[in-house]
Amino acid sequence: MAPPSTPRGPSGYLSLRWKSLIALSLALVLVNASLALIANLQLVEQFELQQGAVREQQARQLRALIEEGSQEMSKLASLVPLLGASEGPTADIEAQIARALDIHGALLDLEWDIRSVHWIRSDGTDSLSWPSDDGPSVPETLRERLARDPERAIATLLCKFECHQYLAIPLLWQGDFAGNLILGRSLADALLSFRALTGAEVAIAWGAEKPGEPSPLLDPQSPSYLQFPAVTYPDKTEPILRSAAATLAQTDALGTPIPVQHDTGWFEVFRIPSLAPGIDALIVNDISTQREAIRAATLGSILLGILGLVLSEVLLLMIMKGPLYRLRDLASALPLLAENRYADLRDRLPPHTRARMPNDEIDLMTDTVRSLTDRMEALQRDREQAESRLVWLANHDPLTQLFNRRRFNDEFKGILERAVRFEHQGALLFLDLDQFKDVNDLSGHQVGDTLLQRVADQLRLVSQPSDLVARLGGDEFALVLPEGSEDNARAAAEAIQRAIHSIIVQEKGRRHHASASIGIVMFPDQGATIGQLMANADLAMYQAKEKGRGRWYMFSEKDQGKEQLDARVLWREEIAQALQFDRFELHFQPIIEIATGEISHLEVLLRMRNPRGETIYPDRFIPVAERTGQIRAIDRWVIDNALAAMRAQPALRLSINLSASAMDDPLLLPDLRRLLQRYEVSAERITFEVTETAAINSLANATRLMRDMQALGCRFALDDFGSGYASYAYLRQLPVDDVKIDGAFIRDLAKNTEDRIFVKAITDMVHGMGKRVVAEFVESAEILAILKGMGVDYAQGYLVGTPHALAGTQRQRTR
Ligand code: C2E
Ligand code: CA
Ligand code: CA
Repeated sequence: MAPPSTPRGPSGYLSLRWKSLIALSLALVLVNASLALIANLQLVEQFELQQGAVREQQARQLRALIEEGSQEMSKLASLVPLLGASEGPTADIEAQIARALDIHGALLDLEWDIRSVHWIRSDGTDSLSWPSDDGPSVPETLRERLARDPERAIATLLCKFECHQYLAIPLLWQGDFAGNLILGRSLADALLSFRALTGAEVAIAWGAEKPGEPSPLLDPQSPSYLQFPAVTYPDKTEPILRSAAATLAQTDALGTPIPVQHDTGWFEVFRIPSLAPGIDALIVNDISTQREAIRAATLGSILLGILGLVLSEVLLLMIMKGPLYRLRDLASALPLLAENRYADLRDRLPPHTRARMPNDEIDLMTDTVRSLTDRMEALQRDREQAESRLVWLANHDPLTQLFNRRRFNDEFKGILERAVRFEHQGALLFLDLDQFKDVNDLSGHQVGDTLLQRVADQLRLVSQPSDLVARLGGDEFALVLPEGSEDNARAAAEAIQRAIHSIIVQEKGRRHHASASIGIVMFPDQGATIGQLMANADLAMYQAKEKGRGRWYMFSEKDQGKEQLDARVLWREEIAQALQFDRFELHFQPIIEIATGEISHLEVLLRMRNPRGETIYPDRFIPVAERTGQIRAIDRWVIDNALAAMRAQPALRLSINLSASAMDDPLLLPDLRRLLQRYEVSAERITFEVTETAAINSLANATRLMRDMQALGCRFALDDFGSGYASYAYLRQLPVDDVKIDGAFIRDLAKNTEDRIFVKAITDMVHGMGKRVVAEFVESAEILAILKGMGVDYAQGYLVGTPHALAGTQRQRTR
């Protein structure tokens, strides 16, 4: 089983299985070892107890055997004289003893192990020795004791080169103490009996000369080392005793048994002290069998332990196998999460524990991983949806779901390239809804949106699947027939117009009939680039509009001469870009109060930069913007930036030009309110300028707007007065504060008498209405002097100051 290829710890990988196995083994070994040890200790202790009892018994038995021997001899001693008296009484006890020994000596030896018999007369002289006179004599110590106390029986054990048990007994003869009969027998027989009785070997040792010193028999330096006077089975016993000698020699080892290992087995040596004065017995017990039994028992318990260990490990392995495999499966499946392979991961998750079994940690973990996987998958799905939504939005118009201008350009490019390459014709139909602005203004944006959606629906219905349909913005749509003749294009235009004509939107009783003007251009013949084709289609569309609502117009080369229209289309694009990339800027021109010569306020004049960085003046782009509707965005931009400049320079008072369409812009007032608040600029610092033409063309709206703005605190100036209607009647109606006389009347004021009359008349009239007069295009001091003489209030022009950018006012909007 290969471990999963997960990052390793510093010391490598070891399966949980082996880790737990090792831990279990250690624990079991420890437990088993201590159990075996305890069992062994118990056995040993029991054995020691047992041996203690055995030793005590052996000591008793040995002493009893010796005692028994003395008693036997004492019975024999009193019998001996009688044995010799069988052939009638004699006068001599000695003779009787001698005869008894003669007759029964062999029997004494055989039956009772009597090895020597001595008779010592009451005067202390020896008179009789059996078996012969040159046999063993009476030991000196016994003789001395007899001399000290002759009339007492003495039983003693004496060892020199051999061990003998002696009994000296006083005998009476005809009422008088006659002497002592001494019987001696070898201890060997008693020892052999002991051996036969107990199975133990025994050696007799005499003690030290002085107490506290080791017996010379146990001292390797001594000449009598291990020369035991009596020992059973010396060949076996002596080597054992030699091994134990050193320990035995120590007097403090008196009672403790000494274990000895010899080639034949294990033995235990202990001392029975003072068998007789100065004489000890050394007992050698063979404990091999017991030790072997203990060893076997201990070994058995160890083996049992090992068996248990092996069994439990096998069991553990079997128990852990399943869960560990599941765990490993889980661990090896998890990396799939990082690879977003959710389905694969779910497949590889370990199965749940069998249905009837309760769940375990791995099941919990698996469940967690499963729900995590679900969550991550859902998140991934959401993200992908959001991403595809963004991609969709980059290519589509969300309102109509048609392609947007960007995608239209991409697609159209491909179509155009194919048309060029395969040399076939196609048609571009450019649609502009008629009077769509009215729908928006009168019925609101929602109705406008509905109308756009319905137009899109109709376009989808009318077009072929291979056609390209897009909403280019506002109320403009485009339809491209990738392959098609002029006839096809015409037919398509008519079909579209019929379809659109069927659309009616209704709101609060107001009904709007939709209609569209369509410009048609054929490609690649009527334009090499998309820009050219779009411009031409736009031109054709304007031609269609000229003819009235709901018409189409096929572009023809001769229309290209109408430069004005052509330029209009290019301008529209340029303005759109300037708005998008913020390529507008504001210049400021001072207006002085003629009486004091001090600057009263500045007029804000708009400039546009084209992509080549050239400054474009408003006469060029404002009229186009008015027609394309871009003017509203421009007005917003100007107000926003002018207010930003005022916020930056609190002393600044500005005059801001408003477009004609601003008069009909219902959102202008609320937007202004919002901007005033945002920039914290007081409305009193602002004058709005609107041209006479614009004001009069939307008289009602203009009047309302002026009043509303004046209510905020703004001032109003009527610009270019005299250039248009020159309708003094209207002037009375319009609630303006200032009147700016058109520069055309001022410029030649010094030379032109008519202009002077005109300006003077207007000035007086305006003053009569309580308004003030401003003169623009004041280019010389002469003119300024004339104006001063006429009582004109304010002057503006190159003499006073040219329009220029204000330091520190650009790009200071807080947007
Ligand atoms: P306007 O409101 O009559 O602005 C005065 C125009 O006369 C400005 O031209 C200015 O540069 C120019 N001018 C000033 N003093 C003299 C002078 O002594 N001699 C001569 N010959 N010209 C002088 P500009 O800046 O090219 O603006 C042209 C028009 O564009 C403006 O006429 C105004 O109607 C419009 N306009 C300018 N800025 C804006 C704006 O921000 N919004 C709107 N809607 N229209 C603007
Ligand atoms: Ca102006
Ligand atoms: Ca003007």
